[in-house]
Amino acid sequence: MEFRGFVAVKDVTLSVNEGSIHALIGPNGAGKTTVFNLLTKFLTPTRGQIVFKGADITRMKPAEVARLGLVRSFQISAVFPHLTLLDNVRVALQRPSGLATQFWRSSNTLAALDERAMELIDAVNLSSYADLPATELSYGRKRALEIATTLALDPAMLLLDEPMAGMGHEDIGRISDLIRRIARNRTVLMVEHNLNVVADLCDRVTVLARGEILSDGSYDTVSRDPRVREAYMGT
Ligand code: ADP
Repeated sequence: MEFRGFVAVKDVTLSVNEGSIHALIGPNGAGKTTVFNLLTKFLTPTRGQIVFKGADITRMKPAEVARLGLVRSFQISAVFPHLTLLDNVRVALQRPSGLATQFWRSSNTLAALDERAMELIDAVNLSSYADLPATELSYGRKRALEIATTLALDPAMLLLDEPMAGMGHEDIGRISDLIRRIARNRTVLMVEHNLNVVADLCDRVTVLARGEILSDGSYDTVSRDPRVREAYMGT
């Protein structure tokens, strides 16, 4: 990917196995956000190809890719602070670009919508907060709500951008459990700076530096790689 001649990522061949939890790590400026933007089609690559579930998505629009099931979890701003959790998820389920419209058409009743919304809130362990305005949630729980609104699109693959950023120990544990549950029937690709989380949670790790892949494999493999230690861990 080039920005006016500046190559932000180059020759990145990244394959993510279905059902895995895959981490993308690397120092600031490595190109992680650019890779996310390329995958979700916020950017179109200058060269190369992106394939998702056998389909060439290189030239698709973001909404088309989301409909295919490749969905990015947005930051907290995607949550409406003054709506209750239940209303936030109801809104997400009815998003026109979402797969939920399919669900909505097939069971056009408020009761069915509410049932599905509560299932999602339950899936992220927030049932006891369903009627509270989102603004009253702790930071960690807001992130969990935000993941619930993303799950409303029923993604096959979820891209999480630093899901643990700014969290304390307890929230990290909760979100880790949530990601493990999500990955039982979905694929997760996450950018994460907390290497303890990566070691604990991820089946596979790709290390980027200066727009290129330095190393790829299990956490144990990449953390022993001298190039990674030099470029990323500073040892
Ligand atoms: P990371 O997410 O790993 O910190 P980024 O993907 O944000 O890295 O950035 C990779 C490189 O590309 C950086 O040097 C950054 O300054 C540059 N870059 C990213 N987006 C743009 C853009 N829209 N225009 C110009 N340069 C960009």
